[in-house]
Amino acid sequence: MDASSQGAYEPVSPKQVPAPGVDPYFPTHGDARYRVHRYELALDYRPGPNRLAGSARLSAVAGGEPLREFALDLAEFRIGRVLVDGKAQHYTHRAGKLRVRPAKPLPAGAAFTVEVHYSGNPKPVRSQWGGLGWEELTDGALVASQPVGAPSWYPCNDRPADKATYLVSITTPSPYTVIVGGRLLTRTTHSSSTTWVYEQAAPTSSYLVTVSIGHYQSVLLTEADPATRRVPQTAHLPARLLPDFTHDFGRQARMMPFFEELFGPYPFGEYAVVIADEELDVPVEAQGVATFGTNHLDGARTSERLVAHELAHQWFGNSVSIADWRHIWLNEGFAKYAEWLWSEHVGGRTAAEHAAVAHALLAGLPQDMRLADPGKKLMFDDRLYERGGLTMHALRLALGDPAFFRMIKDWAAIHRHGVVATAEFTAHAGQYAADGSLDGFFDAWLWETALPALPH
Ligand SMILES: [Zn+2]
Repeated sequence: MDASSQGAYEPVSPKQVPAPGVDPYFPTHGDARYRVHRYELALDYRPGPNRLAGSARLSAVAGGEPLREFALDLAEFRIGRVLVDGKAQHYTHRAGKLRVRPAKPLPAGAAFTVEVHYSGNPKPVRSQWGGLGWEELTDGALVASQPVGAPSWYPCNDRPADKATYLVSITTPSPYTVIVGGRLLTRTTHSSSTTWVYEQAAPTSSYLVTVSIGHYQSVLLTEADPATRRVPQTAHLPARLLPDFTHDFGRQARMMPFFEELFGPYPFGEYAVVIADEELDVPVEAQGVATFGTNHLDGARTSERLVAHELAHQWFGNSVSIADWRHIWLNEGFAKYAEWLWSEHVGGRTAAEHAAVAHALLAGLPQDMRLADPGKKLMFDDRLYERGGLTMHALRLALGDPAFFRMIKDWAAIHRHGVVATAEFTAHAGQYAADGSLDGFFDAWLWETALPALPH
């Protein structure tokens, strides 16, 4: 954790442990010299002019060195004031970095607060995958930040490993519904505006904080039941889509206990799905929420595999989070495999059949991707998802069902609300192998690009 870790990207050789905190795929995002443990956002949003204004208050702790300067990630906004421990400070704001230089260096390990007042017209962060983060809709807005869109709407230490709790207050014209992950604490209407306050008490990566603003009908899918620790499931959608939604998401309530049996208790206090009034290329997961597009409904459950995929991310990606983006297969491989397990559970294609199809598909495609470090360009490539699911299935065949499912459940329990890397997973899984190691297996599936044969 030192300042030099802010330097340029240096290629890492396989399995090499990187400088702590620097993400080789996004070396300019995040600042490992401090950690944030709580964000309090108080924002006002006007959908017509697409204007966002308010403040962010971060409670943070300096790392092992005195902090002479630190950086937050924040896109183009007009900055009003920047306060550290309540006092105005010097800062610079360019190229997505808000650099703050406290009048006196903050001692190593010191707790401090940063408050940023800002306003402007939020727009998506441009990326090779299109716009990320805050997106203005025809009538409303949504946030889908994976992987680096969070600075499009709030100042943050934008690295998945820096997980924090959130209190998010959003004021907007009263006809709109506001959905943020977590528990709705209060909803207060003053004249024509309503303030929605949400608390996310579980540690949350910056990219997993979401907002949806629109004209939505809210539906309770499953009531909370403290006796069985069942969490409430809700849906927010345009009212006209209710008939299709009711059919297409009709089995989500059953998915929850199925996944809890496989992965252990659901990690958050609630689960919500939003059907945004817009077509979306892919649904996106956020903490305790998943956002789908109108195109994911058709009254025929065509996208049910995605319903399973997004729910599985609550365990894998959101609770058990990756240390940096090289480890993305840990999120997507588990979520893909959850799709296959669900399909088998409801009498569709079995996991073995899905694996055979994926294997045949991958065998006919270029084999130039290393699953455990695919490179930024390929991190959301379809092949990563397919090979990720396939690797889980191969692991299941190598370990046998009892050991495999014990391994998965233990993984989710040990690292609940934590941060992991591939090396931790391979060491963990190895403990469940009869001879105590899976090194050869993981070399072939994770580190070599050539597609291995499926074990028998
Ligand atoms: Zn996914």
